[in-house]
Amino acid sequence: MDGVLNVIDGREVPARSGATLPNWEPATAAPLGTLPDSDATDVAEAVAAARRALPAWSATPAPVRSRVLRKIADGLRQALPALARAESVDSGKPISVSTEVDIPRAILNFEFFADAATQLASECHPMDGHALNVTLRHPLGVVGTISPWNLPLYLLTWKVAPALAVGNTVVAKPSEVTPVTAHWLGRIALEAGLPPGVLNIVHGLGPKVGDALSRHPEVKAISFTGSTRTGAEIAGTAGPLFKKLSLEMGGKNPVVIFADADLDAAIATTVRSSFSNQGQICLCCPRIFVERSAYARVRDALVEQTRALRMGDPLLPGTEQGAVVSRAHLDKVLGYITLAREEGGRILTGGKRAEVGGRCREGWFIEPTLIEGLGQECRTNQEEIFGPVAALMPFDSEEEVLRACNSVRYGLAASVWTRDLVRAHRFSAALESGIVWVNTWMLRDLRTPFGGMKDSGVGREGGQEALRFFTEPQNVCIHLAGG
Ligand code: NAD
Repeated sequence: MDGVLNVIDGREVPARSGATLPNWEPATAAPLGTLPDSDATDVAEAVAAARRALPAWSATPAPVRSRVLRKIADGLRQALPALARAESVDSGKPISVSTEVDIPRAILNFEFFADAATQLASECHPMDGHALNVTLRHPLGVVGTISPWNLPLYLLTWKVAPALAVGNTVVAKPSEVTPVTAHWLGRIALEAGLPPGVLNIVHGLGPKVGDALSRHPEVKAISFTGSTRTGAEIAGTAGPLFKKLSLEMGGKNPVVIFADADLDAAIATTVRSSFSNQGQICLCCPRIFVERSAYARVRDALVEQTRALRMGDPLLPGTEQGAVVSRAHLDKVLGYITLAREEGGRILTGGKRAEVGGRCREGWFIEPTLIEGLGQECRTNQEEIFGPVAALMPFDSEEEVLRACNSVRYGLAASVWTRDLVRAHRFSAALESGIVWVNTWMLRDLRTPFGGMKDSGVGREGGQEALRFFTEPQNVCIHLAGG
């Protein structure tokens, strides 16, 4: 695909001002074209287009909307190899991950919500035969989505698909760090027959485009995924304007391995939960707690399996570890490794920028890093690093490890390993975590509520939760008899 452009009212256009931003390929640190440096003017045009498209799209019968979403899924599937390559080049993630996870999941998001569009049920509360309460669910109107760089197309479609399914029109603001596949989505959606103006995509910087979207009076809701700091800024802007808000934010997730667990499975999965996508998944678990009697065995195996991860050119099929997403992120993660050392951590493996030769010699690679010897209260274990860095800590009792798990400001996800079913239930329920996996990690059913507690989130995405978020309930009480 040629350069990245905005998609407004069915047309691919540059920013009104003509300004552009540079984009970079993380694996080579080389320029990768440009994207529009849009501003409030472009956002206003996109919102106006979305408003014009709203009456027809919201009145389109659900089965017809569903068919269009399915065609978008088909268009994405046809483009899968090219999209996977583009995502890998733009973000630094291994091509195997974008081919097997990111793009298939974006397709599934459209298929799942295409089905959901035809299955939206409303509630009825009868009152002892003399009245019926019928709850209607209307589209909200024009909604805004703001998404991050770590799963660019996957998380964008996780918002756009349910919003469109229930009859809203959308202005989407993808991450300026990874804009490429969003541009493809805009084009594929139009080719699939989505009417102009129903999905508008405006590229650019958060404080310009995202902020203008959050404060636009005609935007009825903002669905945001990104850092807790940005979520707070958006809440500060959009809250007083009484927009509906869904905020999916940062995390500092724990893995808890009890000694009775299937340790081989726990170890193999913990390598994935630490380093998948270079640790840049909100569900990754950088705090690894291991019951003391199993600690040495788990630590040694984790170190061995981490060292065996194949780091290299993200475009090679065998690569398991690619580049981190940007120069700024490289510096941030390396800064945290330095901090971990200052805080008394011992680097078990990794700990520095990685040398990958050939075309990737200038790329932004970091060795997958395991650290031990840190207390759970230090900054390394409290702050979100969002890179290939995980810390191991032994524990002696269930109470102690529960306190440690819950000691952070975040509460997104956790992975608990034990064969004791009673403990699994007791411990999971006591975790301050929106998502708990027992004896697994990142096993996703799109019908389940997705999101975090505490500073990780407000609201939930997925299944009915997403359909409820993107609709306005209206209760109609019908009196059946008497006055
Ligand atoms: P970020 O907060 O820097 O940016 C996210 C989006 O917000 C981008 O599109 C950005 O341009 C925009 N933005 C920035 N400032 C803005 C402002 N003032 N107003 C409106 N929009 C603004 O996050 P990131 O670095 O792109 O992504 C990494 C973060 O995302 C991590 O904290 C990670 O935990 C989180 N994340 C959370 C989930 C989840 O489901 N909870 C999923 C993926 C990523």
